[in-house]
Amino acid sequence: MTCLIDNFQRRINYLRISVTDHCNLRCIYCTAHLVPRLRHDDILRYEEIERIVRVAVSLGISSLRLTGGEPLMRPHLEALVEILKKIDGINDISMTTNAITLARHAQSLADAGLDRVNISLDTLKEDKFKYMTGRGNLSDVYKGIEAAQKAGLAPVKINTVMLAGINDDEILDFAAKTRDEGWNVRFIEYMPFSDEGCGNNRFSANQTVSDARIKEVITASMGELTPVMPSKGKGPAKYYKLPGASGSIGFIGAVTDCFCADCNRMRLTADGRLRPCLLDDEEVDIKTPMREGITDEGIKELMNQAVNMKHEKHRLDEQILPSSRQMWQIGG
Ligand code: SAM
Repeated sequence: MTCLIDNFQRRINYLRISVTDHCNLRCIYCTAHLVPRLRHDDILRYEEIERIVRVAVSLGISSLRLTGGEPLMRPHLEALVEILKKIDGINDISMTTNAITLARHAQSLADAGLDRVNISLDTLKEDKFKYMTGRGNLSDVYKGIEAAQKAGLAPVKINTVMLAGINDDEILDFAAKTRDEGWNVRFIEYMPFSDEGCGNNRFSANQTVSDARIKEVITASMGELTPVMPSKGKGPAKYYKLPGASGSIGFIGAVTDCFCADCNRMRLTADGRLRPCLLDDEEVDIKTPMREGITDEGIKELMNQAVNMKHEKHRLDEQILPSSRQMWQIGG
């Protein structure tokens, strides 16, 4: 089988698929309220996603993640999971969700073949949850977490973005959840996006709370963090445990601890663009050629073209920020 290997000898075997740009939350650091949503026709249909994945599998893609927008806003997501799960060569399907409606879907998604979920949650305080998400109830997220655990969508990982002066007073509360309730919490560094052309991003790099700072806060009050061996999972997180904790604390230092050297991923946006790097604006349109009748060989060429566009690493330190899309338009 020919594989997707980029110019830096990285093998790409993981595709993140954004199934919609719609979201039921309006997170203060993620959403551009003023940017119009995609039209129904502009969004990839399930059979188009299936075809792209089939071709990607023939090039060595074996893991998929569904994201958005909010993936659960896409009607009948279970049907897509079922279709993708049947593709020979796919051995892991996960989803990133805000879990607002997960309680209703966890079991049917698991039955359809979803393997696991990551749940985004930035605060454990009801009032702040409303403030940070613009709407939504924290209790729904808790119900979603419970339902995911019950449905066996394991391990359930909680992804948390700390913003200086907004929720970084809750670092210890999240860490305590790994000890007291066995949660697996991952702190993801806030990545600055430019607001040129893609909305009203109100936050800058100054708001990023570094992994080093979070570790310092945790160890100062809760004891040493012991690396989980192997400390790195399949993705970019480095994992640790607190004394006596059954759950883990992961750190995804996207900004201060660049992990691009190990990048194995490519993204597909809801409107059918292959995006080789989250933090770079370059993309390859795959939807238009597909709708104009491109062959599978042609799709393979576009995939190789996208992979060859991957830079060695992101260029945030050179102030080159993604500007054509916000995170909700890419999928994180
Ligand atoms: N709606 C789904 C969810 O909430 O998980 C999937 C899409 S959301 C864009 C995916 C993740 O990106 C969320 O965990 C969110 O916190 C994170 N995110 C959004 N903007 C970010 C930024 N600028 N830096 C780091 N993470 C960000």
